[in-house]
Amino acid sequence: MTARAQTLILGGGLAGAVAALALARRGDAVSVAAGPPGASAQWSGALDVFGPCLRDPDSGDLITDPHARLQNLLLRRPHHPYRVAGLTSASALSGALADACGLLNAGSHGPDLLNPTARGWCMTPLGAPRWCDGASVTVGVWSPTDPAPVIGVVDFLNFAGFDAPQAAATLRDAGIDATAYAVAAPWLPATPPLTDDPIIAARRLDASPDLDWEPVAAALRAASSARPPTLWLLPPILGADLTAARAHLQRLTAALGALAAEASAQHASLHGWRLHRALQAKLSTTPNIQTLPPQRVVSLRLTPSGVEVAFSDGATTIAERVILATGRWASSGLPRRGPWREPLTGAPLWLDAAPMTDTPPNPPRLLAPDFSADHPLLRVGVAVNPSGLILDAHGDPLSPRLYAIGSALHGTSAPTDACAAGVALCAVTVAR
Ligand SMILES: Cc1cc2nc3c(=O)[nH]c(=O)nc-3n(C[C@H](O)[C@H](O)[C@H](O)COP(=O)(O)OP(=O)(O)OC[C@H]3O[C@@H](n4cnc5c(N)ncnc54)[C@H](O)[C@@H]3O)c2cc1C
Repeated sequence: MTARAQTLILGGGLAGAVAALALARRGDAVSVAAGPPGASAQWSGALDVFGPCLRDPDSGDLITDPHARLQNLLLRRPHHPYRVAGLTSASALSGALADACGLLNAGSHGPDLLNPTARGWCMTPLGAPRWCDGASVTVGVWSPTDPAPVIGVVDFLNFAGFDAPQAAATLRDAGIDATAYAVAAPWLPATPPLTDDPIIAARRLDASPDLDWEPVAAALRAASSARPPTLWLLPPILGADLTAARAHLQRLTAALGALAAEASAQHASLHGWRLHRALQAKLSTTPNIQTLPPQRVVSLRLTPSGVEVAFSDGATTIAERVILATGRWASSGLPRRGPWREPLTGAPLWLDAAPMTDTPPNPPRLLAPDFSADHPLLRVGVAVNPSGLILDAHGDPLSPRLYAIGSALHGTSAPTDACAAGVALCAVTVAR
């Protein structure tokens, strides 16, 4: 049996990391047990916080104002984790976001990790502009108050995983002045078979930390001399490490004479992978935080003296209290079919105002016929009270020792509600 933990957090994604750092800041001794990388390691690079940008029914304009979006979100989702956490105004939510990002940014990683002030448009790999409420510091964001940007999309001829001409055409369809400019990526093989894997491309660049960007910049400057871009967007492949990617972008920015940044990512996301690695590093170097060897917790048992925790290697420990930051399906934090119970505590999963019943044991289709459609099952999760204590089927705390935070909570659907990272970062009531 390992040493007794005061607070044991299960999960080392965004929610677990913010909770651990917040508790450690106030002097609590915290242990973090994280299984394999979860949703945070797949994050696209753009933070969704205040809810979707719907269209004003009268003017048809897209609503980007945080206050209007949040009120709209809370109206549609009365059981949203923000409401339980008391985050019902844009100023309260902005404050919680700034605090969470401040915790993640402090210390050895400097301002490297997340930028909550990067609010505006960023580009998806297919070129569609999409709104974000913050971003990785390597993602290019242009604000609606900027003068019309002129965007150069970099087409690395020898990287097959990013269609820059298509991306530029999609930006132009959205009314943005964008052009694709082709250049060879100097760190990738010039001849087929060309890689289309962002992670392979990034790792190859890690092997060339001193790459001279001047020839690339000279070619791009020459090709765009008639109408020089104010922002250069590149595929998100500039290194597997955040610090390295940032250094490459800074050198390229200096050589180009205009900001160079990455697009957000669609799959095999380097933004998520860099975030995952940075969170691990941050947790393992912060005083008062003990990171346990990466493995899953397989059971929790309430005893008179605490919560007995069993790990997949057979080890056990006792914790004063346990905080579930175990995420949703990407991390196996929630079951994919009935019984509708949180796997470790047996707590019922809630759908809106009520706990799910265990019949039928198998879900109706988890995916709706329309890919982007709302689906009730996407908003099931664990219910908590305002202190973060997990609720039983009667709405009472299951135990004074069991808490839940982040995307494990019910009341919001990540694909439609545009607040997924916001919930993970801000709905950490237990640590406030
Ligand atoms: C492909 C993809 C793209 C996304 N893009 C965006 C985006 O553009 N904008 C946005 O706002 N959000 C996005 N999200 C959502 C966002 O990344 C997540 O909502 C957020 O990262 C969830 O953080 P979390 O800490 O709650 O959960 P996770 O990051 O999933 O962390 C859960 C942790 O719990 C651990 N765990 C689970 N069970 C156990 C156990 N039994 N024992 C020990 N540990 C356990 C896992 O190993 C993991 O470390 C995206 C998600 C995905 C999957």
